[in-house]
Amino acid sequence: MTRPSSPLPASARRDLVAILGEDAVFDDAVHRKIYDSDGYALDGVTPDAVVLPRTAVQLQQVVKWCVRHGVPYAARGAGTGLSGGCLTLGGGIQIGTSRLRRIVEVNEVDRLAVVEPGVVNLQLSQAVAHLGLQFAPDPSSQAACTIGGNFAENSGGPHTLKHGVTLPHILGATVVQPDGELAVWGGRSQPGPGVDLLGLGVGSEGTLGIAVELTVRLVPTPESVATFLAVFETEADAAHAVSGLIARAIVPAAMELIDRVMLRAVEEAFSFGFPLDAGAVLIVEVDGSARDLKHERPVVRDVLNEFGAREVREASSAEERTHLWRARKHAFGAIGRMSPNYATQDGVVPRGRVPHIVASIAQAAKRHDVVIGTVIHAGDGNIHPCVLFDERDDAQVDRALAACKDILERCLELDGSPTGEHGIGMEKREFMPLLFGPADLALMTDLRDALEPTGLCNPHKILPGASPCGELRVAGRQVAL
Ligand SMILES: Cc1cc2nc3c(=O)[nH]c(=O)nc-3n(C[C@H](O)[C@H](O)[C@H](O)COP(=O)(O)OP(=O)(O)OC[C@H]3O[C@@H](n4cnc5c(N)ncnc54)[C@H](O)[C@@H]3O)c2cc1C
Repeated sequence: MTRPSSPLPASARRDLVAILGEDAVFDDAVHRKIYDSDGYALDGVTPDAVVLPRTAVQLQQVVKWCVRHGVPYAARGAGTGLSGGCLTLGGGIQIGTSRLRRIVEVNEVDRLAVVEPGVVNLQLSQAVAHLGLQFAPDPSSQAACTIGGNFAENSGGPHTLKHGVTLPHILGATVVQPDGELAVWGGRSQPGPGVDLLGLGVGSEGTLGIAVELTVRLVPTPESVATFLAVFETEADAAHAVSGLIARAIVPAAMELIDRVMLRAVEEAFSFGFPLDAGAVLIVEVDGSARDLKHERPVVRDVLNEFGAREVREASSAEERTHLWRARKHAFGAIGRMSPNYATQDGVVPRGRVPHIVASIAQAAKRHDVVIGTVIHAGDGNIHPCVLFDERDDAQVDRALAACKDILERCLELDGSPTGEHGIGMEKREFMPLLFGPADLALMTDLRDALEPTGLCNPHKILPGASPCGELRVAGRQVAL
């Protein structure tokens, strides 16, 4: 369900057009509808208006205008977020960064790039590929999502296992603070002395300011890569093989588990040649020097076979590897063909408990009579069950929500977390008291209030408490957690 909002008053429109020009202010019903959701399909909020600045100065002027007039706002990158982070909960203006997409500098010696926040993740890696460099964070949405969004969500991806999440890849950020003034967090090298404001900012989901320029680390593309596809009869076997590989002191660059339902969706969409009778497949990638790979290749094969893989294939060419990754990274899109709606969940468990959570997902599907297709960044224990439903059928929506809740609670029972990389946003605020004690939450609130005294910069996100509607609502319903 989408919550309504009020359109922009004429005087506000005039002011914003004076700052940005007529072609950058959108408050008609069609545009407001287009921007009323992100990748979080269960809820939506219509913004009062959407503005698309072309320069950092314009963006800063818009924030200053919002502060002067007491208007809430939220930054929006590509809108691929999966927890409603860029939506203007309680009304306000979405400030899109899609026109701020210049790569300002690439410095090969310092191995860094300076980019505007609207640069699309994959485009940066493509732009520096000829230098043998890449931007390592690779969310599966990397063909669309922006580096500003990655910064705000501290995004991960299949190769997080080797390279870590976004945080270590951000060296500095120029930020329009909530009061409208510019601040520079971090710099062009390792963090220096003083309070680590950059560390606070990365992953703060756009609640502490809007980044208008980012200095990011570039890493060398590996000399050699070997990508394996292992086919298993059951998901449990595939899950156990993950721990088996790590126990052999091999840390692959990526280990992705795709379950039976997802396999079918991906196969129907991409005809990769996945066996449809398999219980699950694992994609395992190792990279490094040619010498490292000479040692690791046979070990990977042996372990996969030892844990019951009925077939292990290695991609024989760069094209085959690209095709395999494309199939994996488009899995969410592929499953969209199977159902009118789906809710993508995001939880984490310790790596050794992946087999437990895999079993719990299957139980939740059975208990609530829903179809769930799952992909797992298995090396990180980061699960993404996609629960299929049809929003026109209330009973199905209830069952899907109940299944999501069961799975996330199970992640907590297994010493994990109800979010790994998609953020808290508006979706998971009420989980926060299950994760943190009152003193921790109070400290987080104090910190936010100190850095964001206006209450206008993406309010009502992350921290629990009454939403503007006085309740947690999902798909238009009140939800008790
Ligand atoms: C198919 C699919 C696959 C995905 N796979 C992954 C994955 O593998 N790993 C992963 O971590 N995530 C994944 N995601 C989630 C999402 O793509 C990431 O969170 C991504 O970083 C969001 O980027 P965006 O540009 O779309 O940001 P948006 O959705 O537009 O915004 C996300 C948040 O960032 C804030 N924000 C945006 N720009 C700025 C800025 N310049 N300054 C401050 N705050 C800002 C917004 O206010 C909001 O809170 C996936 C999503 C989809 C749809």
